[in-house]
Amino acid sequence: MTVQPIRLFGDPVLRTPADPVVDFDAELRKLVADLTDTMREQSGAGLAAPQLGVGLRVFTFDVDDVLGHLVNPVLEFPDEEEQDGPEGCLSIPGLYFDTKRRQNVIAKGFSAFGDPVQIVGSGLMARCVQHETDHLDGVLFVDRLDPEGRKEAMKAIRQAEWYDQAAPPVVKLSPHLSNPFGLGR
Ligand SMILES: [Zn+2]
Repeated sequence: MTVQPIRLFGDPVLRTPADPVVDFDAELRKLVADLTDTMREQSGAGLAAPQLGVGLRVFTFDVDDVLGHLVNPVLEFPDEEEQDGPEGCLSIPGLYFDTKRRQNVIAKGFSAFGDPVQIVGSGLMARCVQHETDHLDGVLFVDRLDPEGRKEAMKAIRQAEWYDQAAPPVVKLSPHLSNPFGLGR
């Protein structure tokens, strides 16, 4: 069990739909352990495999003292009720925006041993399950904001100190200046 680095907004893996889990093996259980340890170390409510750079449909959650995981989740909404409130993401650290979600959800999937699991959640648990399942489809919570909110969120992301740290800007030199820094003269 190991705490792993979390991929941040801008990493293409967060925009890539994850593949369904086929093998319910020891490797999957190690992934669940890594997700759980990393989520708890960061005091997160949930963590999805793509956030550790793994393109598999798995997430963990830790909501209202209920710790668990779900593999190959499929969501159902028993009613039309909505909730609106602050949401954040360990891949967009330090930023929270009010995000509309469904209030109630039924999530069906499997444990890491391949046993069928069903989570009936409302409020925070429902929000977490929707947020983490979005990750498995390459969707981030800022995508769920209305156009104005998204604009505000993108501005805050671009101004965040962690933004673009993983990919330092490439220094482009003009092709017309073969010796732009005047070196060797
Ligand atoms: Zn997230």
